[in-house]
Amino acid sequence: MTGLVILRSEVLVILRSEVLVILRSEVLVILRSKVLVILRSEGLVILRSEATKDLLYFVFLRKMRKFRVIMIETLKDTRNLPDSALEELLESHDATLAQRLKDTAREVCLKVKGPEVLIRGLIEWSNVCRNDCLYCGIRRSRLGVPRYSLTAEQIQECCERVWNDGIPTFVLQGGENPAAAEGLIPTIKEIRRRYPSAAITLSLGELPFELYAALKEAGANRYLLRHETANPEHYASLHPAGMRLDCRLACIRELKFLGYETGMGMMVGSPGQTTLNLIEDLRLMQEMAPHMIGIGPFIPQDGTPFENCPSGSAETTLRLIAIMRLMFPEANIPATTALATLLPGGKQIGIQAGANVIMNVYTPITERRKYSLYKGKTDV
Ligand code: SAH
Repeated sequence: MTGLVILRSEVLVILRSEVLVILRSEVLVILRSKVLVILRSEGLVILRSEATKDLLYFVFLRKMRKFRVIMIETLKDTRNLPDSALEELLESHDATLAQRLKDTAREVCLKVKGPEVLIRGLIEWSNVCRNDCLYCGIRRSRLGVPRYSLTAEQIQECCERVWNDGIPTFVLQGGENPAAAEGLIPTIKEIRRRYPSAAITLSLGELPFELYAALKEAGANRYLLRHETANPEHYASLHPAGMRLDCRLACIRELKFLGYETGMGMMVGSPGQTTLNLIEDLRLMQEMAPHMIGIGPFIPQDGTPFENCPSGSAETTLRLIAIMRLMFPEANIPATTALATLLPGGKQIGIQAGANVIMNVYTPITERRKYSLYKGKTDV
């Protein structure tokens, strides 16, 4: 049982089941020999020992900044907040609060991940895709997209440029195409042979378990598979019939089972998405504990069913990056190209909000424009 106490209609207290709550008019005491919280009308006092790290407690007065600040501190200390507080952080018009959230995330990032920004070399190896995701510019049915797949030689050339730039991580991304993914196996073996210490990250969509296993065996060790949205109905509204959230999540579990460092994430502001959906995304990731989390704003692409839909918000994306840094301090979180497309200087601004990874595009110039996931994609 989770305790929910509303005090004087301004205070919301949510406590974990094992915590004993004693409530007396203006004074609230939470006791378990470890924690003592005293709430008086003029403020909040929190006393606790080290042993309470996992304790989720949360108290705030909706209209008072000092309590909103406590919200951020609580998120930092407990790596968690109730839905209502997350909603507040995502939707608040208080610019000082939002800045504080980002600053706190940056601080935690520096402490946990260090000052280094990790650079990845992104090779968009093919835009041939069997899927027809409604938002995506390389969806199967979008006409006028010249389709390409890099040859093994071209991929090796890209890797060489990435490596020579001092970047030890290759990210091979492409449309979902199991036969072509299988065809990549010798190339991955060769990359692994040439660069034994490099990280080889794949992002090739939903594939059969055996193929994930074979790619791992060939030398790949990381995999990015965004869940896109954690809400099944919302997922269904973004994808054609036949694509299902639970299949995608099953793939993510399989990848983790196989020992891949696994990434997930969602588009921010995709058509029909609510703040509550974003909170569902955070809850799902708490459950799945991904090593990497990639999020970016939705950006419409011409010739897709969503071509006239508005873009997602860069500000919401930044706040989510910050919240995720506080919820998942160890995760690798990129400041994505989609964010930079919407917001000039977005990569740097994303780092300032708690991201620690940047993906630079190494796809050959001749093919780059064909990997047209969304409008105006910047070619970094
Ligand atoms: N086929 C792979 C890679 C997909 S493209 C897979 O299924 O995982 C990589 C990511 O780009 C997608 O996961 C999606 O989150 C993002 N994306 C696609 N279309 C987009 C759009 N219109 N705006 C913003 N991001 C988009």
